Amino acid sequence: MSRTEDNVDTAEVAKFDALAARWWDTDGDFESLHAINPLRLDWIRRYADLRDKQVLDIGCGGGILSESMAAAGARVTGIDMAEGPLAVARLHLAESGRDVNYLHSTAESLAQDQPGEFDVVTCLEMLEHVPDPAQVIAACATLVKPGGQVFFSTINRTPKAFMFAILGAEYLLKLLPAGTHEYQKFIRPSELEEWARHAGLNLQASIGMHYNPLSKEYSLGPGLEVNYLQYFRRRLDE
Ligand code: SAH
Repeated sequence: MSRTEDNVDTAEVAKFDALAARWWDTDGDFESLHAINPLRLDWIRRYADLRDKQVLDIGCGGGILSESMAAAGARVTGIDMAEGPLAVARLHLAESGRDVNYLHSTAESLAQDQPGEFDVVTCLEMLEHVPDPAQVIAACATLVKPGGQVFFSTINRTPKAFMFAILGAEYLLKLLPAGTHEYQKFIRPSELEEWARHAGLNLQASIGMHYNPLSKEYSLGPGLEVNYLQYFRRRLDE
């Protein structure tokens, strides 16, 4: 299959592969994912009871979110297209004692095999790394049960996001490795909502993720100009 048919940007996936060994280093390249994880997990749990639920984590990487959802009682499947982070994620289970089913797969191909099998689908910090995010969103809508819950997070395409998420985070404060994000791939909340609506997902809630460079702390709150999360439910009549 060609790159476009797969909807995988191999250069993007290679970037994550190269950093895989450092995934669980809480002071390393993925420090910010570790720092925001409790906040985003809390936000998901505000709406979704994860206990004993079938949960799919798309673009799981080294498994920071997947493991935390497993710790909250979910039966988690984590998928990613980078082999390195998946290997690290599997190794880390031995250390944490958690149970997660990690698979090398795209959302689109899993959607053909396991449609409607998941109570909850999460796809965080991943859509801005794929060639056609709308296609991933449509796969999420197929994977979740009717009435099920889908959570996305990504970065808005605004001048403020360029300043904060690229210049600030990658070059000034060095919170992320330089080259992690490309401005053109950022997604406006209205675009995400429209793609989701076309796929049969109705928007339930949105929230911004903010970083305070003085206190070096992250927080959730109003304002979607930079990082944000959106929560959807699959329509029952689809
Ligand atoms: N969701 C995780 C990791 C985010 S990093 C978290 O927030 O903690 C983005 C991840 O998406 C990387 O691991 C990368 O390999 C993966 N990815 C990029 N394109 C993908 C695709 N088309 N299918 C599946 N995973 C993909």
